[in-house]
Amino acid sequence: MNFKKNDLVEVTIEDCGVNGEGIGKVDGYTLFVKGAIMGDVVNARITKPTKNYAYARVENIITESKDRVAATCPVASSCGGCQIQEMSYKAQLEFKRNKVFNNITRIGGITDFKIHDTIGMDNPFRYRNKSQYPVGLDKNGEIVMGFYAGRTHSIIPCDDCVIGDEINKDILNIVKSFMKENNITPYDETTGKGLVRHVLIRKGFKTGEIMVCLVINGKNLPNKEKLVESLLKITGMTSISININTENTNVILGQRVIDLYGEGYITDYIGLVKFHISPLSFYQVNPIQTHILYGKALEYAALTGKEIVWDLYCGVGTISLFLAKLAGKVYGVEIIPEAIADAKNNAKINNIGNAEFFVGKAEEVLPDFYAREQEKGNHMTADVIVVDPPRKGCDEKLLWTIIKMQPKRVVYVSCDSATLARDLKFLCGNGYRVVEVQPVDMFPHGVHVECVVLMSR
Ligand code: SAH
Repeated sequence: MNFKKNDLVEVTIEDCGVNGEGIGKVDGYTLFVKGAIMGDVVNARITKPTKNYAYARVENIITESKDRVAATCPVASSCGGCQIQEMSYKAQLEFKRNKVFNNITRIGGITDFKIHDTIGMDNPFRYRNKSQYPVGLDKNGEIVMGFYAGRTHSIIPCDDCVIGDEINKDILNIVKSFMKENNITPYDETTGKGLVRHVLIRKGFKTGEIMVCLVINGKNLPNKEKLVESLLKITGMTSISININTENTNVILGQRVIDLYGEGYITDYIGLVKFHISPLSFYQVNPIQTHILYGKALEYAALTGKEIVWDLYCGVGTISLFLAKLAGKVYGVEIIPEAIADAKNNAKINNIGNAEFFVGKAEEVLPDFYAREQEKGNHMTADVIVVDPPRKGCDEKLLWTIIKMQPKRVVYVSCDSATLARDLKFLCGNGYRVVEVQPVDMFPHGVHVECVVLMSR
């Protein structure tokens, strides 16, 4: 069947796509329907037809899915942040478990394993400890802060995002008043003029410490002491800074930070491990679920205090430090030098002396280590290897080295179950088996799902 633009089609939604769109089929022809959720029967208006599939949006709902709920956030459908707020939370968790299960069985070809229900949040709102609000002008020339509409750069005004902290609203109001009173203009992407680009806010949920960083298109913020004075009225304000970004780019932060108040960082904890977080450092955005995810990784590692553990793609060392408390020795490997500097500092402030960190590609550092030991006549082994790669998964060269090292257990933390499945298949073809899989919901109302997998030899 071939549809034309603007055709109206009735379709039953059977799946959810990578951007939260509903997926349905009409005579074998696939439709990606914006605004529809699994279980809906809708009339969809075709927006972009191609030979084998088409994009469409909901014109009207004929029968509502039993899983449909009203979105909590008034801008849920236009803001690019939450793709599946109109799906009940229970259905979101089931969808995520199914996605992981289907990928492992279909792509991985693995059938004999245990998969648990997705661990969700008791309250799936207000969970983000970090928010970055773009600043701009609306049609009437008023300063607005909010979010980019999905796949565009026009700002949807929103100063109280329901997955962010309630304090953000007060902070944004202070920044807005400060800008108005001091004639400070927002940055305009099209002309490259104007000063304030973004407001970055981070909060330590355990400590209550708050950081505000204004990203500016310039070297100086006029009357900055007035901004500091107003922001300090907020309880918990610990770090105020500006970040210089004068490039014509989509990247939010520049490299240089100037502290206006405080030591340049806030402190937070995941479990008992303490972290210093600066405007530029990486830190998981959902600390409650991070604790659960890494707690599972630790449980799967089953450490007794003697083990040698490698934590590959270690970032700022979150998992490494979690493991170090119960291991003999932990080696962390990460490609970004600043993250390793943070990891080393995090080890120090936690008095952890049995963690060592290396900068480099996991698929180079580990094989090189292995080869050097081999030359010395040693067979390098590890008791447990943990990997937490980015979406593209692990490099095959790394997987080969893991296989040669023969750890008793491999703990795979994944943010993309398709590449996870590919890598599990590879390890399963070379002496490992998947024991259990635990999906954890780190991003309620978003389509991404994280999971942790235990493999044994
Ligand atoms: N476990 C980490 C987060 C992992 S996110 C934490 O808790 O902080 C994935 C990390 O892999 C990122 O920090 C990224 O910089 C890093 N990375 C990406 N490619 C890499 C590679 N080839 N080798 C090592 N690290 C890599």
